[in-house]
Amino acid sequence: MRILRVLLRQLFLAPATNRFPASHAPKSVAGFLAKAATDTSLVIPPIPTPPGFRGKIAYDRDTCIGCQLCVKICPTVAIEFIPEDKKVRIFVARCCFCSQCNDICPVNCLSMTDEFLLSCYDKYSDEMVVTDNKA
Ligand code: SF4
Ligand code: SF4
Repeated sequence: MRILRVLLRQLFLAPATNRFPASHAPKSVAGFLAKAATDTSLVIPPIPTPPGFRGKIAYDRDTCIGCQLCVKICPTVAIEFIPEDKKVRIFVARCCFCSQCNDICPVNCLSMTDEFLLSCYDKYSDEMVVTDNKA
């Protein structure tokens, strides 16, 4: 009986997920994207990220002292040391967003942004290899 009550209540609850980026699956994704480029009202925006959200990593290259602690702690080998510059680069496609590099960096030049739309055809593109930015 209890399960029946739960099931009936579910019928009238609003969806727990956000219908991002479109209310219904379009017949053509390419067609939807082309229309959305000129009419942004077609796009349902994502929900705001909560405080402490761990999205794409940001790197302040000028502040980095090249200590390599981030390289050593990264569990997915997403951070590569560049010996000639004594700086690092981060391969976002390998990152599991654990934030351990961010926590261990002694000069706080790494940070986790709220950017999570990271779909990409090329995992080595400029957007997916972080070499310098200040979030
Ligand atoms: S967030 Fe975690 S997985 Fe991503 S680069 Fe930093 S240590 Fe590596
Ligand atoms: S831990 Fe920080 S200072 Fe050290 S190499 Fe990594 S980013 Fe640079």
